[in-house]
Amino acid sequence: MQALNKKTIEDINPENKKVLVRCDFNVPITDGKIDDSKRIVESLPTIKYLAEKGAKIILCSHLGRPKGEFNKKYSLKIVAEKLTELLGKEIIMANDVIGDDAKAKSAALKPGEIMLIENVRFHNEEEKNDPEFSKALASLAEIYVNDAFGTAHRAHSSTAGVSDYLPAVAGYLINKEISVMGGALSNPKRPFVAILGGAKVSDKIGVITNLLDKVDTLLIGGAMAYTFIKANGGKVGDSLCEDEKLDIARDIVEKAKSKNIRLLIPIDHVIADEFKNDANKKICFGACISDGWEGLDIGPETINLFSGVIKDAGTIVWNGPMGVFEFDNFATGTKEIARAVAESGAVSIIGGGDSAAAVEKLGFAEKVTHISTGGGAALEFLEGIELPGITCLQDK
Ligand code: AMP
Repeated sequence: MQALNKKTIEDINPENKKVLVRCDFNVPITDGKIDDSKRIVESLPTIKYLAEKGAKIILCSHLGRPKGEFNKKYSLKIVAEKLTELLGKEIIMANDVIGDDAKAKSAALKPGEIMLIENVRFHNEEEKNDPEFSKALASLAEIYVNDAFGTAHRAHSSTAGVSDYLPAVAGYLINKEISVMGGALSNPKRPFVAILGGAKVSDKIGVITNLLDKVDTLLIGGAMAYTFIKANGGKVGDSLCEDEKLDIARDIVEKAKSKNIRLLIPIDHVIADEFKNDANKKICFGACISDGWEGLDIGPETINLFSGVIKDAGTIVWNGPMGVFEFDNFATGTKEIARAVAESGAVSIIGGGDSAAAVEKLGFAEKVTHISTGGGAALEFLEGIELPGITCLQDK
C-alpha cells in the first residue's frame, strides 16, 4: 500500500508554479490514429486539477520504443491534439524534450496553461535514469507529479530520477491505482478470489506466491494451467507447458493446501489440432489431452465451475486471459469469465494487459470496480514489489 502514505497533488500548492507531470500517454496507434485513448482520458483529472489551481503545467511521457533518437513516428504531437480536443483548451507542443524549444516554452508558461514536451525516450538517457538527464528535465519545473502508473515499475529519469531534484508527489491516477489495489490486497471483502491466466507460470510465480498469503480461492486458467495439470500427473498433449516449472507448480499446490486455500484448475478444455482460429476443435473433459491436440481455452464445465466461485466472491483480482482470446473461436472462456466478474457485484480489479482489453472489448468496463492502466506495473504491485515510481515520492 505504497502511495497511501505518499503526498499527492492535494498536499502541495501548485499555484503559479511550473509542475512537471509524468503521464502515461503510451497509447496504441494505427495508421496515424489513436486506437484507444483510455490512458489519456485517465490523466485528465490531475491535469484539470492543476490547471484550476493555476499551475503552469508541463506534461511528459514516453510513446513506443524510439530507441533514443528523434523519430516522427513516435512524436507525442498526436497526443497533444487529442488532449486539446478532450480538454477544449490548446496544448502547447514543444519540439524537443530538454532542448531550447522546451526550455523557452516552459519559461513562458502562464498559470493554467498546459504544454507537452516531446517523447522522453527520444533520449537514451531516459531509460538509463541518467542523473544529468534527470536534472535537465527537472530544471524545466519546480514540482514533480508522477501520474504514470503504467511505468511506475520502471526507474527511469522521468518516472523516478527527477525526484532527486524536485519535490515529488502522486497524481490522482497513481493514487487511485494504488488505493484500490492496495485496499483490496490488505483489507479484502471475503471471499477473496484471484483469477490468473495467460501464457506462462514463470511470469506469474511472484503474483501467485504473494496472493497465496491473501486469497481464499485461486482460479488458474490459460496456458499456465497445463503446467499445473502435467505436474498433477495429467496429460497435456501439445499444449503450451513449462516442463522446467513442474516442481514450482507442485510446490504452489502444496502451499495452497497447507494454507487451506482452494486452488482450482480447469476440468475441461477446448482443444485444437493446430494453433489457429479455424483449427479443428473439440471439448476434452479431464486431464487427458492426446498428442496432436493442444488446449486453447477452458471448457464449458470449467466456465461453470469458475463462474460459480466468482458469483459468490467479495473481492476479485484478475490477471491474464483464460485462453487464446485473440482467436474468436477460443475466446469464449475469457468472455464468460469477464461476464461473470462484471455481474458478480464483487469489488473487481482487472490487473491490466489482455484481461483488461477483454473486459473493455466486451463492454463490461463500466461494471467492474477498477481496470488498471498498467499491465506490468499492476503485476509487480500484485507481487508485492515496491514500484520505484512510487517509492520516490515524498512521504505524507
Ligand atoms: P500473459 O501476457 O502472460 O497474460 O499471456 C497472454 C497470452 O496468453 C495471450 O496472448 C493468450 O493468447 C495466451 N494464452 C492464453 N491461453 C493460452 C493457451 N491455452 N495456449 C496458448 N496461449 C495461451
